[in-house]
Amino acid sequence: MTPEARREVLGERLLDEVPADAVPADGGPDEGGPDEGRPVDPAAAPSEDREDAGLRPRTLAEFVGQGQLTEHLQIVIEAALKRSQPVDHLLFAGPPGLGKTSLAGIVAAEMGVGLRITAGPVLVRAGDLAALLTDLQDGDVLFIDEIHRLHRAVEEILYPAMEDFKLDILIGKGPTARSIRLDLPRFTLVGATTRTGLVAGPLRDRFGFVGRLDHYDVDELQAIVTRSAGILGVPVDAEGARRIAERSRGTPRIANRLLRRVRDYVEVRAEGSVDSAAAITGLELFGVDALGLDKVDRAILDVLCRRFGGRPVGLTTLAQCIGEEPDTIEDAYEPYLLQQGLVLRTARGRVAAPRAWTHLGLPPVEPTLL
Ligand code: ADP
Repeated sequence: MTPEARREVLGERLLDEVPADAVPADGGPDEGGPDEGRPVDPAAAPSEDREDAGLRPRTLAEFVGQGQLTEHLQIVIEAALKRSQPVDHLLFAGPPGLGKTSLAGIVAAEMGVGLRITAGPVLVRAGDLAALLTDLQDGDVLFIDEIHRLHRAVEEILYPAMEDFKLDILIGKGPTARSIRLDLPRFTLVGATTRTGLVAGPLRDRFGFVGRLDHYDVDELQAIVTRSAGILGVPVDAEGARRIAERSRGTPRIANRLLRRVRDYVEVRAEGSVDSAAAITGLELFGVDALGLDKVDRAILDVLCRRFGGRPVGLTTLAQCIGEEPDTIEDAYEPYLLQQGLVLRTARGRVAAPRAWTHLGLPPVEPTLL
């Protein structure tokens, strides 16, 4: 496209400052305020935990997708059962909402043992972990979410616990202090991390099995939506489930959340089962579009295409235009936009890819022409 043609598409605002209201800070009247939470956030909202619990797959057979990983787990579990031993320590790595906690529960259920759940940042002192470890029964599964965020002192007592099922504790203070060694039950540690690179080498080496979870494809997400709809008693037809799956960013937790929003919409505004049209209208009402982008994602594309006319934009400038922190843009919004090929990171800043222009209904501009 020539610069003139582009100028025509973008109007007079091409390279000039746009009025402050061009990118609404709160997404406009019918997209919900920031307090409502982000419909496409892969992390769980605190209030969601209880609702999610009923939707969690309980057996490997119920767990949709991740074929290779579940096959390996099946073998690991069966072998452990045959030897009447606990499963080796397992580390699950992958983005939030893909099923790491669910898998920990499945391992415990398939082994017929108890499950204790905690998270790295919650274990502040060594004693917090010691209390949990000494309370385990033989064979139990201890699940530590966000294991890359364990405090150093806590991590250190974990090593002998994982390796020799021993707990070293220090009694007393100063010159009279002495260390005693307690036997622990043989347990299985299941760690989960969103950042494998941040798990310390010595800790990573103590896991017998490391499994990576990848984003799900639309067919798998459709199966998850259909299964969850059955549990929630929401009548959803195949096309309705597919529309929700397509907008779920490859993430089961988002798929389940979008299903609940569509259920709310259908209960209040529409009748009958969730078909394609009801799913699309329901999700649009909550600001989720055909690619699973929300209002802030679209505001980012809008700034890159319309306000800056496709020129590279620095992270700080971009964040200021959107009214978010640079870290939030980088951690919460940018990964999906990059992964979808909507935004490119260049040495001079963020640039809209041709797909971003098309998504906003504008003629595409090749970044190389800029
Ligand atoms: P993570 O621990 O990786 O953040 P969770 O295990 O908490 O993810 O999964 C979030 C939700 O997504 C669960 O409540 C569960 O209902 C659903 N879920 C995740 N993976 C699957 C799957 N493979 N099949 C069916 N549902 C899934």
